[in-house]
Amino acid sequence: MNGLDFKVIRIWGEKKNREFQDLVLDWYRQNQRRLPWRRQPTPYRVWISEVMLQQTQVKTVVPYFHRFLRCFPDIATLAAASEEEVMALWAGLGYYSRARNLHRAAMIMAREFGGDFPCTLEEIEGLPGIGRYTAAAIHSIAFNCPQPVVDGNVRRVITRLHAITTKVPEDYFWRQAQAWQHNKYSSDFAQAVMELGALVCKPAAPLCSACPAQSLCRSYAGGIQFCVPAPRLKRVLENVDLVVVVLEWRGKLILLKKRAINYVPGEWSLPTKILSTKNIKPEKAAKALAQTILGISIPLVEKVAVRHSITHHRIRARVFYADVGEYQIKLPAYGNICLAEKSGSGRLITSSLYKKALCSALRG
Ligand code: SF4
Repeated sequence: MNGLDFKVIRIWGEKKNREFQDLVLDWYRQNQRRLPWRRQPTPYRVWISEVMLQQTQVKTVVPYFHRFLRCFPDIATLAAASEEEVMALWAGLGYYSRARNLHRAAMIMAREFGGDFPCTLEEIEGLPGIGRYTAAAIHSIAFNCPQPVVDGNVRRVITRLHAITTKVPEDYFWRQAQAWQHNKYSSDFAQAVMELGALVCKPAAPLCSACPAQSLCRSYAGGIQFCVPAPRLKRVLENVDLVVVVLEWRGKLILLKKRAINYVPGEWSLPTKILSTKNIKPEKAAKALAQTILGISIPLVEKVAVRHSITHHRIRARVFYADVGEYQIKLPAYGNICLAEKSGSGRLITSSLYKKALCSALRG
């Protein structure tokens, strides 16, 4: 059997859609994973889980979800938190704009929706950080409103069910999902198709023998070769060299509000400079950085280098330290530099990179 050109791929008719619904719902009810956000699927819990699951595996998300819900059990507590508190709980999960958007959206809900989650699709999609898929998932899973929901898993299931081997417009997937949405069990059905993609119709090796939709699947009928995608291109890693300067002044640390690197999370950072070429000597760059902040030249001690990965950046940070307690320092008064108590700096410094740098600098 050949793959089909999208122009001749038909959206399934009613009979086939109903058959698919029944098969997949039955399977889901017996095989679904017990995930924390599936207990009490309130709009708030579904929203937090969906945002955390973007680009992130379930097993990574589960402990973060528990911690986040323990600290911020509802919209009101999240809206009342500071950005630093939210970022501290997000540290290590990556893609930090998600946390900032969650926080902004909670403040909007507190201010404009009386602290409730909006219940129309348009209002949900209007919140920061919520796109078409996330809005549809929340509306469908938490409000049980029939909605087509298309994520990567659903796209793959549809591709294989129809044995599509050419590129098709995104709209095609949404139309198929719209055609088979379930009017009564919208919440379960939306999760069932995604779960089928995650557990059975897996990217590299689909488990067709365990698939409830096997009898409807054109790829299965045509041979397993249709089920296996071409290998994905490996993401190119970018090496980044930088210096981090830890300046201690009478039990306090000098922190900067301006972020030196946009993919390192947190509102506050340690003084940092990216070494754009190999010709820049780290010792010189660190000294110049300290001098810009303090207005005087001081000796620095180099501590161990710290390695850290964020998304596709592989960072090597040379950490320098100075105790400037003997100097009368006058920090610029424009509000983006602060002296933070060493013991309380963990609340302001949320990035794992800076936590490692602090650990190495203050160790002794
Ligand atoms: Fe995917 Fe195989 Fe099921 Fe088809 S039969 S939907 S390829 S797991």
